[in-house]
Amino acid sequence: MYDSVTKFIDSSLDESIETLKSLCRIPSVAAKNEGLDDAAMMVEEMMKKAGLETEIHPTTGASVVTGWLDVGAKRTLLFYDHYDVQPAEPFDLWHSPPFEPELRDGRLYGRGVADNKGNTALRLWTLRAFRETGTDLPVNIKFVVEGEEEIGSVHLPEYTEKNTDFITADGGIWEFGGAGIHGKQEAWLGLKGIFFVELGVERLSRDVHSSNACILPSAASRLIWALNSLKDEASQVLIEGFYDGIKPLTKTEIEAIKKIDMREEKFKKVYGIEEYLNGLTNDKLKEAYYGSPTCNICGLTSGYQGKGSMTVLPAKASCKIDFRLVEGMHPDDIHKKLRKHLDEHGFTDVKITYFEGYPAAKTPIDHPFVKVIERANQRIFGDLVIHPTSPGSGPLYLFNKYVPMVSIGCGDYESKAHSPNESIVIENFRKSMHRIVAVIDEMSKW
Ligand SMILES: [Zn+2]
Repeated sequence: MYDSVTKFIDSSLDESIETLKSLCRIPSVAAKNEGLDDAAMMVEEMMKKAGLETEIHPTTGASVVTGWLDVGAKRTLLFYDHYDVQPAEPFDLWHSPPFEPELRDGRLYGRGVADNKGNTALRLWTLRAFRETGTDLPVNIKFVVEGEEEIGSVHLPEYTEKNTDFITADGGIWEFGGAGIHGKQEAWLGLKGIFFVELGVERLSRDVHSSNACILPSAASRLIWALNSLKDEASQVLIEGFYDGIKPLTKTEIEAIKKIDMREEKFKKVYGIEEYLNGLTNDKLKEAYYGSPTCNICGLTSGYQGKGSMTVLPAKASCKIDFRLVEGMHPDDIHKKLRKHLDEHGFTDVKITYFEGYPAAKTPIDHPFVKVIERANQRIFGDLVIHPTSPGSGPLYLFNKYVPMVSIGCGDYESKAHSPNESIVIENFRKSMHRIVAVIDEMSKW
């Protein structure tokens, strides 16, 4: 099926890679608010060349680019991608310039090639292959491409909340994915939520000589005592009601994760640990990985940390904490519980700054669209490893009520997303286009 389309994909591979390279040359770093309009315009252009109708939706942040093609088919396939990338720092660790993509030994290196410009480019090129070969699409197509994924999709709700009709579809493909450490393709059916805060304490109008520590309060100590009250040594979160309402993993999900090989021993070496938290192993380790919320200190700051000694009593202390949320938890609720917890423990002086928050979302593992993806993957790559959720976070909750989403893509275990020397395997890029053709075909038969 669709031989002319797949032949076009293979014969035009160099051209599709050139398009990806051009997109990656735009340093669309959302954190620095750079290059976003240029990248949005290029994505719109790529959509037009793929035969889609397009619209650029301004938000108070970066624009959302949408594309669609209604062929009057029974099923509609939606894609969610983003045209922004992570900053490329530290530049000196790159073997080739991050914004000048380079092919070496079958891999393409550059910021964004894996996360997520490679997927954006290959998905659009696949549709272009249908158009160029005059092949009728058997499903309707929709694309939502935003420009702030890497900074928490802050303004995406401005678009999604007003356009629920557009984001309604029979199935959707989320932005990331690829081959795991064992080389097998993996699909992710969900994403955890997040609640990201800064806790700050300010107890003095300025830093003072540390000899005053016998008569003046210490912001650093206050912060540490407050943090100490949040979690015990077994990493159990002590905020009252923190675990209330959590939906546990279903039986089918627990069965599915039993099949996943987490390479426990290998990663112990990678991380330099003797054992995992609380001695977790096997199924319990997996259940914690996929099904547990977290309370993690990302960074701590106070006083002097330079060379040698400097005896100072710092006026301020702060730390950043991310809570990964699982289904049944809501960031606003955790925010209230955290405030109440701090107040009740005497830490009314600890200020909470709320940066980012959204709930978790998942597509049920037995949804027919998951089977469509499995069958399509089987035709191109073979067996598919299914993760009920990713341990990471993303704004899936904005879509999930309107479209079941599955995350598959052209990355792999060595892709180094968010790090220097980000890369993809060209062969995965090519085969991922074939897989999109197979998804379209399988979806039309559903
Ligand atoms: Zn990313």
